[in-house]
Amino acid sequence: MGRLARRVHCKSAMTPARSLGCLLLALGAWACSNPKPPPQVEQNDEERGRILIVVTVDWEGRDLTDANIGAMEELRARRPDVPLVQYLNAAYFTKPDADPAATRQQISRALSGDDELGLHIHGWERLFEAAGVTFRASPTFWDPSGVVSQGCSFDCGHEVPISAYTEAELDKVIGFSLETLEANGLGRAVSFRAGGWMAKANVRDALVGRGFLTDGSAVPSAHLASEIGDLPLWTWVDELWKGTDASSQPFQLATAHGPLLEIPDNGALADYMTAQEMVEVFQQARDRYDESPREDVVVSIGFHQETAAKYLSRVDAALDAIVKESETEGVPIRFVTAAELATR
Ligand SMILES: [Zn+2]
Repeated sequence: MGRLARRVHCKSAMTPARSLGCLLLALGAWACSNPKPPPQVEQNDEERGRILIVVTVDWEGRDLTDANIGAMEELRARRPDVPLVQYLNAAYFTKPDADPAATRQQISRALSGDDELGLHIHGWERLFEAAGVTFRASPTFWDPSGVVSQGCSFDCGHEVPISAYTEAELDKVIGFSLETLEANGLGRAVSFRAGGWMAKANVRDALVGRGFLTDGSAVPSAHLASEIGDLPLWTWVDELWKGTDASSQPFQLATAHGPLLEIPDNGALADYMTAQEMVEVFQQARDRYDESPREDVVVSIGFHQETAAKYLSRVDAALDAIVKESETEGVPIRFVTAAELATR
């Protein structure tokens, strides 16, 4: 059965707000097979809020394997209607053996025309040195007094929080990353997520100084507790984003150079969340929508490029469930990018 011909079932147990939404959806489905839809339905529909879903991808800057890029290609083929916020990483271009043309081509396989091309930065030694910044090997996500343990003959530093650098140093790395990606046809980012979600005030200052509009680093520490709850990174995230939970909504953060829209990563990433847990974040948003159906509610879910082959299926399953629930219960959803949230 095609999308326009689907049947809409309104349940008597629904809340009044959702019953109204379901009725509007049913009328919309009816209108698709009738030439003149009632004008008042369109008018009411414009006044309704939506659940706005942001699907994000963190590109770690580690490697670009065919398995992970292929998994993303398959997702794009199945869901051409879902734009992704691609938090890209310039570190692929600074590896000792990097081939810019091949790197560019491999990244591009996972992109599509409606995507937003954002920026993700981890503390890679080669990236920071290429930007003219002296590498710091400490602290690490795993040990506050530790130094990067593996040899740096190829590259290292993924686990060093970028908030360990000064704003001036970060400005250089952000500027280098923007220019590297843009020179390779990968856009000019206005949206950011920090490696390990460690976007402290110095990071945010540097971002706005470089023209960024949004950051998506505020994550509920509760989502990460069972995976990394015994590690320093979890304590840092818990302190930095205190009060952030699965229902947190976008808010303005002041920086030294102007405001930055913080878009909470309220559904975290698939390495830390099962499909069911992501759906539960959506259901919390749905409950909030039921209370105030004229207001938009934002849900952010996502995955890492480097573990797409392993975890992308969780996001796919969550999207299936979310779309199905939207259609059967009359909950309006729309897939959006971070930049759209900043400019609406
Ligand atoms: Zn990352």
